[in-house]
Amino acid sequence: PSLGTQRHNFVVDFVQQHKPKKVIDLGCADCRLLRRLRFLRDVEFLVGVDIKSSSMKKKMHSLAPFPGEYLQPGNKPLTIELYEGSVTEEDPHTKGFDLATCIELIEHLQLAEVGRFSEVLFGYMEPTAVIVSTPNADFNCLLPGRPKLRIPDHKFEWTQVEFRSWASGICGAYGYTVEFTGVGKVANGPESSGFCSQIGVFNRESSRSNVPPGNEVTEDVPVYNLLYRMEY
Ligand code: SAM
Repeated sequence: PSLGTQRHNFVVDFVQQHKPKKVIDLGCADCRLLRRLRFLRDVEFLVGVDIKSSSMKKKMHSLAPFPGEYLQPGNKPLTIELYEGSVTEEDPHTKGFDLATCIELIEHLQLAEVGRFSEVLFGYMEPTAVIVSTPNADFNCLLPGRPKLRIPDHKFEWTQVEFRSWASGICGAYGYTVEFTGVGKVANGPESSGFCSQIGVFNRESSRSNVPPGNEVTEDVPVYNLLYRMEY
């Protein structure tokens, strides 16, 4: 399978294993991952967010039930929502999730925006688990032409050390633990190159309450734009 499919397979396996009910896909683009997640048994609420609405709008109707599903509705509830919005902005619709996925998203942010994104994701949305995938710059020496950036759209690509250092900072600041893995390996490649796509799987420490003591619960104003809603 393609690297993109392998990344999505990783998420699907995680969902099958950990059974989150509420899943939010940040940077969902053409909704490809959402289209796979909607079939998984335990998922009851699926949300996609992207700053660019064009690919979402083109493909969002593919999230609707198939004719057969209308005729013979399954017994599990499922609601799907798509929002146009930026992961650097707080919106109450992004809170309360069991899992947030950020598949090849962060390298599309300006490096200077990553701190804000981290604050919004781990400090405000504070999902129970987070899967972040991003290109591993250490792997680029194995790619044809040894590119510095794999596509010009990327604002940066992190080495394994850089990714781990960002992730450890997150864990300390927001009360998460992280495990590192990845997808895409070349047979007989040097061990130090790692995976083509590096992945961090974060889990919120259970001792952490949702509202830190002393913090006022502020009035949340929605800033995202709802594009699509489907209740099965
Ligand atoms: N996650 C998808 C996948 O697995 O195939 C596609 C990732 S695509 C390479 C990156 C996506 O992130 C694009 O759709 C882009 O519009 C979106 N994006 C970039 N900056 C964003 C931001 N600040 N907030 C939300 N989405 C953003």
